[in-house]
Amino acid sequence: MKQLTFDAVVVGGGAAGMSAALELDARGHSVLILEREDTLGGILMQCIHNGFGLIEFNEELTGPEFAQRFEEKVSARNIQASLRTTVLDIREEEGRRVVYAVSPSQGMMRIEARAVVLAMGCRERNRGNIRIPGTRPAGIYTAGLAQRLVNIEGYIPGKDVVIIGSGDIGLIMARRMTWSGCKVHAVIEILPYPSGLTRNIVQCLNDFGIPLYLSHLVTDIYGKDRVEGIEVTPIESGALMHEKAFKIACDTVLLSVGLVPENELSRNAGIEIQPTTNGPWVDSMLMTSLPGVFACGNVLHVHDLVDYVVEEARRAGANAAAWLSGYRPSREIRIKTGSNIRYVLPARLNPERENRLYMRSLVVKNDARLEVRLDGNVVRSRKLAHVQPSEMLSLTLGPEDVAAAGRDSVVEIALV
Ligand SMILES: Cc1cc2nc3c(=O)[nH]c(=O)nc-3n(C[C@H](O)[C@H](O)[C@H](O)COP(=O)(O)OP(=O)(O)OC[C@H]3O[C@@H](n4cnc5c(N)ncnc54)[C@H](O)[C@@H]3O)c2cc1C
Repeated sequence: MKQLTFDAVVVGGGAAGMSAALELDARGHSVLILEREDTLGGILMQCIHNGFGLIEFNEELTGPEFAQRFEEKVSARNIQASLRTTVLDIREEEGRRVVYAVSPSQGMMRIEARAVVLAMGCRERNRGNIRIPGTRPAGIYTAGLAQRLVNIEGYIPGKDVVIIGSGDIGLIMARRMTWSGCKVHAVIEILPYPSGLTRNIVQCLNDFGIPLYLSHLVTDIYGKDRVEGIEVTPIESGALMHEKAFKIACDTVLLSVGLVPENELSRNAGIEIQPTTNGPWVDSMLMTSLPGVFACGNVLHVHDLVDYVVEEARRAGANAAAWLSGYRPSREIRIKTGSNIRYVLPARLNPERENRLYMRSLVVKNDARLEVRLDGNVVRSRKLAHVQPSEMLSLTLGPEDVAAAGRDSVVEIALV
C-alpha cells in the first residue's frame, strides 16, 4: 500500500475543497486534495448556465468558468491533487489521523495527516426518499442527473417533461429542457412557496411561461415501460383535495426535491451529525466533533450560492492551518436557534474574533427582524425586507457584540 504524509488532506475537489486547500497552502502547510472524479470542480462542471461568482468575482460566470478560476490557482501553487481517487475511510491509528483512499493508478493509499478538511458536497434526494406511489417505469430522473446527461453526455432524456419540486436544480433544468426543444408542462411543489431562489423562478419559469403549481402533491405516476403521466392533487388547508385531482401526460419526470450532504465518511469516522442540516456539528473554527477534522461547503450544509461555499471553505482552510500551528480558542460561546430559525452554523462562537454565521429561516416573512440575543438581551438587530427558507441568511458578530458574555452565556438568533 502506498504510504504518504501531508500536513493536511482535503476530501473532495469541488469549489469548497479547492478554496480550503489554497488557504492551507498559503499558510505554508503541505496539502493533498483527493477527488474521485476525473477533474477538479465538482458539481460546477455540469452547471453550464451563468449566475456564478457575482459576489466572489463581481462577474457573472458559468459553473465551469468559476471552477477554472480556482483550478488555475491550485495548479499555479503546485498543490497536489490526486484525481480518480475515492476516500474510503478516515481513522485514528496510534494517535495519528489516517485517510485511506483508492485510485486505479495508485491502488490503495494510506495518508497520514494532522488535519483533514471534509468537502464532499451533497447528493440529490430521489423518488424513494419521498415515496411517490405508482408504477416504476423508465423516464424518472433526478434533476441533477438529467443535467449531467444533457450538459456533459449530450443526451436528452425525454420530450414531455414534468418537474416535481421547485428546488434550484429543477428550475434550472426547466429552462435547459425547454432550450433543448422539450415541452416542460409544469413544476409541482408541495409547499405554498417555492423552494428555489426568486431569480430562478423569474428567469427559468416565468420567462418561458412554465406553470408552477404551489400547494400541489404528485399522488401517482402512471406508465408500464415508460412514464405516461402523473396525477396531481391540490392541497387546501393541509388536506388533499382528491375531487380536484388532475392528470398531466408526460414521458419524463425530473425530481428536484432536495439535497442531502454526503456524510457517510463522516458518520463512519464517528463525527457527530446535526439532524437540522444533515451535516457535521462544528465549533467556531468549523471543526467537527473529531479534533483536527474540519468541514465546509455543501457537506456541512446545503448552500444556495457557490460564493458562500468558497467564503466558508476559506475560513475552514485558514482555521485548519491555525490548528496545525497550535492555535486553540481560549473560550467559546454556545449559539442556539430562536424563533423561526431552522439552523445556525457554527454551533459556537469565539468571543475574541469575528464570527461569520450562516442560517436559514423556517418561514416566509415580509418586514422581518433578525435578532441576536445574549442571555436574553438583544445585542444586535437587523431589518430584513423579505425572508424565505430557500435563501440563506448571514451575519457577522464581533467581540463587541458579546463583550458582556460570562462563562455560561448563550447567544440566541431569532427572526421576529
Ligand atoms: C444544478 C445546480 C445549480 C446551481 N446553480 C448555482 C448558481 O447559479 N449560482 C451559484 O452561485 N451557485 C449555484 N449552485 C450551487 C453551487 O454550485 C454549489 O453549492 C457548490 O459548487 C458546491 O461546492 P462543494 O465543493 O461544496 O461541493 P461539490 O461541488 O459537490 O464538490 C464535492 C466534491 O467531492 C467529491 N467527493 C465526494 N465524496 C468523495 C470521496 N469519498 N472521495 C473523493 N472525492 C469525493 C465529489 O466528487 C465532488 O467533486 C448550483 C448547484 C447546483 C447543483
